[in-house]
Amino acid sequence: MRKLLFYATFFGVVSLQAQQTYLHCGKIIDTDKGKVLTEKTLVISDGKIQQVNNGYTSPGNGEDTVIDLKDKTVLPGFVDMHVHLESETNPKRYMARYTDNEADVAFQSVVYAKKTLMAGFTTVRDLGGSGVNTALRNAINKGYVVGPRIFSAGKSIATTGGHADPTNGSRKALMGDPGPKEGVVNSPEEARKAVRQRYKNGADVIKITATGGVLSVAKSGRNPQFFLDEIKAITETAADYGMLVAAHAHGDRGMQRAILGGVKTIEHGTFMSEETMELMKKHNAYYVPTITAGKEVAEKAEVEGYYPELVVPKAKEVGPQIQGTFAKAYKKGVNIVFGTDAGVFKHGENAREFQYMVEAGMPEMEAIRSATVTPAILLDMQHKTGQLKEGFLADIIAVNEDPTQNIKTLQNVVFVMKGGVVHKNEDTAP
Ligand SMILES: [Zn+2]
Repeated sequence: MRKLLFYATFFGVVSLQAQQTYLHCGKIIDTDKGKVLTEKTLVISDGKIQQVNNGYTSPGNGEDTVIDLKDKTVLPGFVDMHVHLESETNPKRYMARYTDNEADVAFQSVVYAKKTLMAGFTTVRDLGGSGVNTALRNAINKGYVVGPRIFSAGKSIATTGGHADPTNGSRKALMGDPGPKEGVVNSPEEARKAVRQRYKNGADVIKITATGGVLSVAKSGRNPQFFLDEIKAITETAADYGMLVAAHAHGDRGMQRAILGGVKTIEHGTFMSEETMELMKKHNAYYVPTITAGKEVAEKAEVEGYYPELVVPKAKEVGPQIQGTFAKAYKKGVNIVFGTDAGVFKHGENAREFQYMVEAGMPEMEAIRSATVTPAILLDMQHKTGQLKEGFLADIIAVNEDPTQNIKTLQNVVFVMKGGVVHKNEDTAP
């Protein structure tokens, strides 16, 4: 049925037919049921999927367009639950905080956002930056900039000297004493203030660094960095504002505190014990593996001078572990949701993660579901994205091969539509 728009005018009611796009899909992934279907037509208008028809149906109106994806496999746009759109790995990155102004960061982030979208990621969670990430979200929503839908954490919350203390590694004169506003807290009271400040700044989600991390200029990559009462203060305050809390965690003890404290997603999870895996299941927490980032830091740690001296041993220790942890967690039945830590490696390479997940024992369809239906639930978008269904947002991508047969094909996305707008169609590229 055609969608009619009615407008009341001085002369009475006239109807205008909204322009529609017909996508002829050779294969299509039903992410809800975990099935590959064939020969469907998606009818798009007003940024949404209006119809899913059997076979190839044709428009009745000359204004409408048909896009031929008969030799492609069509999927919902992917969600990456862990990216950093403000920066990208490079050996001079550690100088950037002294040399780059906010505007420099903003212009770079525009490039990274576009790369991310063109790689088939129509939605991302930006888990920590300076606040430019939140402005980027707004600019994309207003249509000034091309990029994915962003759920932004603004600036991460850490403790003094912790993984997201912004003055780690500086000389004393530059260190100062950052507080809750800058995302550094040392008590439950400060923790509450930091969450409220993030809400005020427009954050959608709260990110904490529950343990040491690899790339900060600090000695430990795995020690716990929050007390349980501080984490609880954060998750309880975040809940008042409808925000979930994500916790960066490599070490097991800090991870356990995060889960007990009410954190919803554990990022990296490198040294997760079997006991902690059980705890995650019990508390219905989700694991965001970021295997790609692990592989990248292990590789770059071998390049002389790429990372500061303090970082190298941590990168060598943490990096190679993550894929093995993922394999164990998956086997144990821990909830998995797709996330890569893009920015630690090059933006636009997010789909490498699928290959690593499959290598570690996850079936292809489950890996695809972990980047579509599962994140949609955590973002409260389960009725809007992650599936190709009537009424859902027209966030649609296509690849050359069936990814359930060859997962690597997801690293070469040839068609991207976001909100009904085509951003990439290689068949029609000049
Ligand atoms: Zn990260």
